[in-house]
Amino acid sequence: MRKQPFSVLALLTTVGTISLASCNKENETQPAQVEQAQDAKAEEAYPGQTGAAKAGTWGGESITYQEINGEKVYEGDILLTAEQVAASEGQNRPSSAGRTTGRWPSAVVYYTIDAALPSQSRVTSAISHWQANSPVRFVQRTTQSNYVTFRVGSGCSSNIGMVGGRQYINLASGCTTGNTIHEIGHALGLFHEQTRTDRDNYVNILTQNIQSGYEGNFTKYSALGYGGTDYGVLDFGSIMMYGSFSFSSNGQPTITKKDGSTFNIQRTGLSAGDKSGIDAMY
Ligand SMILES: [Zn+2]
Repeated sequence: MRKQPFSVLALLTTVGTISLASCNKENETQPAQVEQAQDAKAEEAYPGQTGAAKAGTWGGESITYQEINGEKVYEGDILLTAEQVAASEGQNRPSSAGRTTGRWPSAVVYYTIDAALPSQSRVTSAISHWQANSPVRFVQRTTQSNYVTFRVGSGCSSNIGMVGGRQYINLASGCTTGNTIHEIGHALGLFHEQTRTDRDNYVNILTQNIQSGYEGNFTKYSALGYGGTDYGVLDFGSIMMYGSFSFSSNGQPTITKKDGSTFNIQRTGLSAGDKSGIDAMY
């Protein structure tokens, strides 16, 4: 080993710049050649090393990054924190679209049930379902100023989020427990899943088949003036998602998947994506 400096020197002399570049890290007298050698290719965090390719999203874009030496390396020299990637990995799962404002403080919804509302077990069952599957709590209103009253309506309807003061969830006789779970979802701040701002990546909206007057139910929430967040990816199994034939005027689909196929409506209970969306919001 004692002869190594001589053999390196001999190599530099005979082989020239290629060997010189490979020795530069130890040779402080040759900084110019370090620059020159590295100018030829893009910056890398770990030159010559590759790691396991992983899929994720970052800043809303789908990316592939590599795990090298415990670092998450993107495009060669961008180090993503575990927090960035952990959060973005969750964004690949189906979830919800939620309103930015109008959250219920401390995740507590105060409510009353109008005495004239028939089949009140629809409401109590829907509340029990939400309490079993989310951090949201429902407390019978005493003197609180912001609260929901469940009452008879001409259809099933609700505001999006807490609006302040008394607000209503309206339930016609045909509204089921599943429909009531859906309306409570609106009152908590959930939009219809098909109104996500990124929905065009997942569905086709067939406006020509929508019943006149219901086009707004298929309008992106941003276009309706709401601020919101699209969590994860569109959840076809969400209790907040319409089915392919919802509000059809002619028996033809109003929404299809991007490949043109149709899908069923789900009004049984909260999906895994609904739960993760509400968890993110509350
Ligand atoms: Zn709805």
